[in-house]
Amino acid sequence: MIKQFFNIEVNDALKALHTSTNGLSQLEATSRLAKYGLNELVTKKNKPAWVYFFDQFKDFMILILMVAAILSGIMGDMVDAVVILIIVVLNALLGFSQEYKAEKSMLALKKMSITTARVNRDGNPAIIPSEELVPGDIVFLEAGNIVPADIRLIEVHGLSIDESSLTGESNAIHKKIETINDKDISLGDQLNMAFKGTLVTAGRATGLVVVTAMSTELGKIAGLLQEEKASTPLQRRMEHFGKKLSYIILLICLILFISGLVRGEDPFTLLLLSISLAVAAIPEALPALITIALAKGAARLAKRKSLIRKLPAVETLGSVSFICSDKTGTLTQNKMEVVENFENTVLSPSFSNTPLLLSVLLNQDVQFSQTGDSLGESTELALVNYCISKLGIVEFHELYKQYPRVAEIPFDSDRKCMTTIHPFGDQFLVITKGASETIQTCLLDATAKHQLLTMSDKWASQGIRVIAYGFKLLDVLPAQITSKSIEHDLVWLGQIGLMDPPRVNVKRVIEECKGAGIKPVMITGDHPATAKSIALQVGIMEEQDKLMLGTELAQLTDEQFGMLVLDIAVYARVSPNQKLRIIKALQSKGHFVAMTGDGVNDAPSLKAANIGVAMGITGTDVSKEAADLILLDDHFGTIVNAVKEGRRIVDNIRKFIKYIMTCNGAEIWTIFLAPILGMPIPLLPIHILWINLVTDGLPALALANEKGEMDIMKRPPRKADESFFSDGVGYHIVWVGLLMAGVTLATQAYALHNEFAHWQTMVFTVLSFAQLGHVLAVRSDKTFLFQQGIFSNPLLLLSVLFTFCLQLGVIYIPFLNEIFKTQPLSLQELGFCTLMAMIVFHAVELEKLIKRL
Ligand code: ATP
Repeated sequence: MIKQFFNIEVNDALKALHTSTNGLSQLEATSRLAKYGLNELVTKKNKPAWVYFFDQFKDFMILILMVAAILSGIMGDMVDAVVILIIVVLNALLGFSQEYKAEKSMLALKKMSITTARVNRDGNPAIIPSEELVPGDIVFLEAGNIVPADIRLIEVHGLSIDESSLTGESNAIHKKIETINDKDISLGDQLNMAFKGTLVTAGRATGLVVVTAMSTELGKIAGLLQEEKASTPLQRRMEHFGKKLSYIILLICLILFISGLVRGEDPFTLLLLSISLAVAAIPEALPALITIALAKGAARLAKRKSLIRKLPAVETLGSVSFICSDKTGTLTQNKMEVVENFENTVLSPSFSNTPLLLSVLLNQDVQFSQTGDSLGESTELALVNYCISKLGIVEFHELYKQYPRVAEIPFDSDRKCMTTIHPFGDQFLVITKGASETIQTCLLDATAKHQLLTMSDKWASQGIRVIAYGFKLLDVLPAQITSKSIEHDLVWLGQIGLMDPPRVNVKRVIEECKGAGIKPVMITGDHPATAKSIALQVGIMEEQDKLMLGTELAQLTDEQFGMLVLDIAVYARVSPNQKLRIIKALQSKGHFVAMTGDGVNDAPSLKAANIGVAMGITGTDVSKEAADLILLDDHFGTIVNAVKEGRRIVDNIRKFIKYIMTCNGAEIWTIFLAPILGMPIPLLPIHILWINLVTDGLPALALANEKGEMDIMKRPPRKADESFFSDGVGYHIVWVGLLMAGVTLATQAYALHNEFAHWQTMVFTVLSFAQLGHVLAVRSDKTFLFQQGIFSNPLLLLSVLFTFCLQLGVIYIPFLNEIFKTQPLSLQELGFCTLMAMIVFHAVELEKLIKRL
C-alpha cells in the first residue's frame, strides 16, 4: 500500500485505492467499512461497570466506617458489623446505579453530536456520518468543516486549513493540489493533503480519503489525547464548602467522643457512634449527586432538542441574562423565497437570456444529485429554484454546462460576497454577488451605486434580504485569483430580494424570555433595515430600542461601547469577530451571555460566551465543536426551553442540598444536644447510618425529578456564583434542623419521663418520619404541597412510601428488631411519633406562607 500520497498524482492515488472521482458504490463502501472499521479515534476505553461499583468504596469516610465495622465484628458484635457492611453496600449500589446510568446517558449524548461528511456515493452527493468514511471515498470540504480523515486533495478553491492542532503552526495553510516530489517532508509542508481533525477556515475542496481512524496522523498521536473531565463550578464550590464543613463536623464528633468518655460511656460504642455521625453528616455524596442531576438534566434536554456538549453548561444555562441570536434560521424559518427582482438595463454581454438570470444561475453553490435533489445553503437554494422556475430544469443545466466555472472566490461572511469566473468567447466573465453595500463598493458607476443603495434600503425595510449582482469581462486572468485582484470595477446587473418569514411562535417565546428577565438581542450580517423589520415583527425590538451597525461599533472604544451595550436590541452588518466584543462588553457588566453562531468565524465567540450555542442543522462542524449547546432544530425557542430546564435543574439541586443539609444538621443537633440536656445519647450508630444512607438517599435522588416552580420563567435569573445559602436556604437549614432535633428530643424527653420502654425506637422513628415529611414540603419553595399535587412527582412519592414501609419493617419485623435493636411500638406510640414528625412538615409549609406575605 502506498503511504506517501502527497508524492503521487491524483489519478495514481485514485487507482491505488480502486476508486474514481465519482466515489465508491454503497456496496463497496460497506465492505470497506467492515475491513477498515469505523473512522473514529479510540482515546480511552470505557470503564466496565464493576469499576464504577468499586469506585464507590474509594471514599475515605466509607473506608473508615468499614474498618470500624470489621473491628466491631472482631470485638464480638457480629450483628452490628454485618448490618453496617450491608448498609454501606446498599448505599454503594444506589450510588453505582445512578452514576453508571448518568455516565451512559452522557456517552449517548456524545454519540449524538457526531459530525457528518459530504461524499460522493454511487456518483451522487450524499451526507453520511463522518464515522462511516472509508479509504477511497470522495469528500467535499468547505469553510467550517473539521477535516474528517486524512485526505489527498483533488480540487481546491481558495482552501485554507488551520493545522495548529496537529503541527502547532498558528497561521492557516493555503492548500494546493500539485504533486510534491520531495520525500520525507513534515506534515506542515504536505500542501496537497488535508489531515483529520484540522479546521477548514476558508474556501472549498474535493479530496480523496486515503486513511481513516487510528491510521490518520491524528490517530497516531491520539494516545496522547486526554479527555479532561472538569468538575462544574457548582461542584467545585460544593467540594470546597464540603471540606470546610467536614472539619466542623469532625470537631463536633471529637467533642462528642471526649465528653462521652468523661461521662463514662463505653469507648468502643462511642467511637463507632462518632464515626457513624461523621460519615452520615459530612455531605461527601453531594458532588456526585450534582453530577447525576446534571447528567439527567442533559438527557432530558436532548429529548427537547438541546444537545449539551459540556456538563457545566446545564447549570450555567439557568443564569443566562442575555441571549444573542442570529437571525436566519433561528428567529426565521430559513425558508427563503425570491419575492423581488430588478434588472439593470446596462450594456451587457450578449446572453441568450437575461444577464441577471444567467448570473444567478452561474454564481451559485448548490450541488445536484442524479435524482435531481439539491444540497446547499438556503439563500443559494432559493436563488437556484428561482432560476429553474424561470428557465425550466433542462435549460438550467444546459446553460450551466455551457459556461463552466474556471475559478471562484467562495462566500465568506466578512466580505459578504462571492465570485465565480467563466470563459466567455475569448474573454472571461466575472460575476460577483453579495450584500448591497459590498457590491456597491465594487461598482464603477456612481449613479448605479446610488440607485442600488436606494432600492436596497426600500426592499430591506420590508424585511427582504437583498442579493446584488455585478459583472465584468476580463481578457486575461490575474496570476492570483483573490478578492483584491478581482472584486472591483464591476457593472451593476441588478438584484434579487428574498423573504424568510419569522418562525411561528417565536414572538411568544420572546415575550416569555423578557418576562424571565432575559434580554433577547439579534446579531446579524444582514442589512439594518431587514434586521429591524424582522426584529419588530418578532418583538425583539420595540420602536424606542436601539440598533447598532457593525461600522458604528468599530468606531467605539470599549468604554464607549460599554455604556451603550445594555440598550441595544439589534446589531446589523456585523462581522463574526465583532460578536466577541459584544460578549465581552456584556460580561463586563456582569451579564451571563448565551450566543448563537453557525459559521467558522463564530468559534471564538462561541467559546467566549457563557453558553455558546451552535446550530444542529445549518451549523458548521467548527461551530459545533466550540459550542456548549447544540440546537437540534436551530430554533430560538429551544434556547429558551433549555434555559428553563437549566433553571429547574439548579433549583432542584438547591432543593436537595437544602434537604440533605437540614437532615444532617438535625442528626448532629439531636446527638449533640441530648447529653447537654441531661439525656442519654438517643441513637445507635446503625440508626444514624440507616437514616442517612438509606432513608435519606432515595428521596433526595427523587428531588432531582421535581417539576419546575410555577414562577420559574417569571423571575430574574440567578447569579451563577450565588451562594447555596441565599434566598433563605441557610436559615432554613438551621431552623428546620433545630426544629427536627427539637421534636426528636421532645419525644425522647416525653418518653423517658413517662418511662416508655421503647423510647429509643420512638426517637429513631420520629427522626426518620420527620425527614420524610420534610422532603414532601421542601419540593417547592413557595407552592404548598396541596397546590402542587402530591402525585406530581410520582418517583418521590414512591420513594417516600417505600422508605416509610422500610421504617415500619425495622420497627415491626422481629428479625429486624434484633438487628436494629428496636422494639415494636404500640399504635398510640406510632401515632404519637407520626404526629410529632408532622410538625416539621407543617412548619415548612408555614414558612412558605410567611414568604408569600
Ligand atoms: P443571519 O443572522 O441572517 O443568519 P448572517 O449574520 O449569517 O445573517 P450572512 O449569511 O453572513 O449573515 O450574510 C450577510 C449578507 O451577505 C447577507 O445580507 C447577504 O446580502 C449576503 N449573502 C448571504 N449569503 C450569500 C451568498 N450565498 N452569496 C452572496 N452573498 C450572500
